[in-house]
Amino acid sequence: MRLSVIGTGYVGLVTAACFADLGHEVIGVDQDAERVRFLGEGGVPIYEPGLEDVLGRALASGRLHFTTDVGEAVNASEVIFITVGTPAREDGEADLTAVATVAEEIAENLPGYRLIVEKSTVPIRTGERIRDQIRLVTRGKVPFEVACNPEFLREGSAVHDFLHPDRIVIGVESGRAEELLREVYRSFDSPIVVTDLATAELIKHASNAFLALKISYINAIANLCERLGADVSKVADGMGYDRRIGRAFLNAGVGYGGSCFPKDVAAFIKISRDAGYEFRLLEEVARINEEQREVLLRHLKEALWVLSNRTIAVLGLAYKPNTDDVRGSPAIAIIRRLCREGAQVRAYDPAAEANARRVLPEITYCPGPYETAVGSDAVVVLTEWDEFRRLDLKRLRGVMRRPVLIDGRNIFDPGAARSEGFYYSGMGR
Ligand code: NAD
Repeated sequence: MRLSVIGTGYVGLVTAACFADLGHEVIGVDQDAERVRFLGEGGVPIYEPGLEDVLGRALASGRLHFTTDVGEAVNASEVIFITVGTPAREDGEADLTAVATVAEEIAENLPGYRLIVEKSTVPIRTGERIRDQIRLVTRGKVPFEVACNPEFLREGSAVHDFLHPDRIVIGVESGRAEELLREVYRSFDSPIVVTDLATAELIKHASNAFLALKISYINAIANLCERLGADVSKVADGMGYDRRIGRAFLNAGVGYGGSCFPKDVAAFIKISRDAGYEFRLLEEVARINEEQREVLLRHLKEALWVLSNRTIAVLGLAYKPNTDDVRGSPAIAIIRRLCREGAQVRAYDPAAEANARRVLPEITYCPGPYETAVGSDAVVVLTEWDEFRRLDLKRLRGVMRRPVLIDGRNIFDPGAARSEGFYYSGMGR
């Protein structure tokens, strides 16, 4: 099929590359001309395991092209995916400027029937808004339909998740739209849930909010564990074997981050309020998440008393492992607090240094974990990269000024760390 994907960020680029690799003809569109040029030359602007191979194959097959021209893409495609960003505004509401801009550009270039699919995470009823907007611009003279096909991929395993989704959700208004989307996904071996537009939009928000809730739930249990002398990792194991609960997303730590959960939870609270329902459960989810950063700082202060003039070695800047994304990363927020309290921060991340430098130019970046720890008063782990799990604790301790290990992601065995002579503090253990 002939497809276009407008917005070539984490979601759009993976979508475009995978669809092309599966045999569709795909045009990737972005307003960022430099990005389009870089992509056209075979560059990979984001760190995402497996993406380079898929992109390389898709480009070599001649089925994938990039352009800044929405008109060209709309003309050439049967199905158009919108994958632009929907960041949070101050009040939590999703900023739909990019979605509205793209909808208008599509409308101005609509030559005949096209299926326009929102894949970005958007508030309920955005599909209707897109439809009304396009109808207005085209004065109702050109046939088209709007569908919703939310994306559930996770950064760090985006290619795998895109190709093997637990489910594909399709929100449509007609059999024709459903057939088109079934055809797009014909080679996928996943259950397809077909709904109306608003239900599909709600499924995405309800899913992300539930995952965030699981994380905040286990963090609340972690706080209780600290007061009662229990180990939250074992509590999570014990809970997780229950298939009704599941072990995933029950890892206590400094909380969730990234460009999705914080903004999607805030947006869902706002959506609910606007609909006349105060979603207090989710307000608490967000509050517990914020509080986890303070919990970590409290552990650090318990070990070091004051933070001014202390040298803190931070391992991990990305909001989670296997990505270079630092948007909404708890590590960035915690480092800012450390700097405000007068600490000297040295940091290392296997992939996210370049992105972190843009938002945190004032700290010292190091080429590896041991270099980061040299002369430090504490090592603080903020992202659970596998590389950190494999650290030689004896060697680490050997280069530090004080043997303090604050494990913000519970990746080390407390007993092993303590037997290496560390003052060890995890989250809820
Ligand atoms: P992103 O910020 O990485 O990418 C957005 C891209 O859209 C950028 O390249 C930007 O230049 C481009 N863009 C913005 N306005 C444009 C316009 N008017 N015309 C053409 N291009 C334009 O965003 P992302 O992380 O890929 O997220 C996109 C959407 O998908 C969001 O709604 C997000 O909530 C959702 N989502 C993200 C993830 C994730 O893990 N990142 C997962 C599922 C869903």
